[in-house]
Amino acid sequence: MKMKKCCLFDKPEEKFKDNKDFSVIKKYGEIPAPNECSRSLLKCNKCGALFLYQFLEWNDSYYNDYIQVENEEQANKLNEELSFSKFSTNNNPMIKISSDKRVSFQLPNSSSRVRQIIDALSNEDQDKLKELNVSNEEIENVLKSIDKKAEKLDSEILEYINNVEKEINYTFVEEYKNYLLKHSSLKPDKNVLGLSNGTEKIVRYLYSVDPSSKTYILKFQNFDSKLKNKLVPFAELEFGDILCFERETNKIVIYNHETDTIDFIANNWNDFIKELYDDYVYKTKNGFEYRYKGLKVIITANEVNEELTNYADKIIEYYFENKDKIINHLFEKFEKYELYVEAYTKEKIIEKIGKPTIYVNKVNLGEITYLNNELDEHLITIELYGLEISYVTIDG
Ligand SMILES: [Zn+2]
Repeated sequence: MKMKKCCLFDKPEEKFKDNKDFSVIKKYGEIPAPNECSRSLLKCNKCGALFLYQFLEWNDSYYNDYIQVENEEQANKLNEELSFSKFSTNNNPMIKISSDKRVSFQLPNSSSRVRQIIDALSNEDQDKLKELNVSNEEIENVLKSIDKKAEKLDSEILEYINNVEKEINYTFVEEYKNYLLKHSSLKPDKNVLGLSNGTEKIVRYLYSVDPSSKTYILKFQNFDSKLKNKLVPFAELEFGDILCFERETNKIVIYNHETDTIDFIANNWNDFIKELYDDYVYKTKNGFEYRYKGLKVIITANEVNEELTNYADKIIEYYFENKDKIINHLFEKFEKYELYVEAYTKEKIIEKIGKPTIYVNKVNLGEITYLNNELDEHLITIELYGLEISYVTIDG
């Protein structure tokens, strides 16, 4: 598959005007870097070609780099893969504005033979391989060199992790180490975290295990708290709170610096990653899905509109403001049928029932459903008319 070069590359370089030639499609926000660094997805106003754009401040200079991408998926992938300093090392067509405001175009056909072979291989472009007149032996050598490079990077990261572990006398869980090996970007793809009280926190970035990084994890281990010896900080949240591993249990907690307390977030690393979400609405086989204040919303309609999402968001706000009332409503039903009250105490039921999922199929017709309750395999559902809680059904 070949990407059609954007029409901008046919103009003289000095004619390029980013604010006139592009419109913004999506903002990726801030990227971990020593100074300011942000990214967005841009679209050429003339031919519609897409560009992943990075603005970077570095030693009091400003750099603007635009990588042409095939589609939004590739932009998301590159955004995830490329750290701020690696942004210009790829083989797509690029526009670069250096700190002295000089514009230069970089086109991949001027790249090295090895680079061209790698691209032809990854795109399964047989015509290109033929055109380059590549022998099987040459292909093998190129593949070997890629493998070696990847191995070298992995072993370097593992060594970094090892050093950190020795230094803080703590062994990280394997899932966390694997995450660091697989993700070069320290900003999680989805970075919103919903707390049990209905507030949301933004994960700014994970600390780096690379000792040359400004966000090197060891720089953050010595914080002023009575809980210091119980926690291993690994990520920074907006407004200065930090995410930590609890040494004893490897559970994930938030350390609140103002109150010197911790809040439980997840039992383990994988659950923590699953808890993270973003602001987007996703189409699924059940309709549409998104998360708000940490709760999942499923809209079972053919189309989403603001009326439906507003109603779902209102249910969630109602839920957090009236948790007690909702739980008591459930208990009336439980007591009537003596279903759970014999087996568990009220506290145990609250703990085991878990987070609800909100279903909406029409405005003012919703459901609070406990899909993941650990009491048994029943589905516990409270019907809602507007914001009035109504029938409880316990389904097998
Ligand atoms: Zn264009």
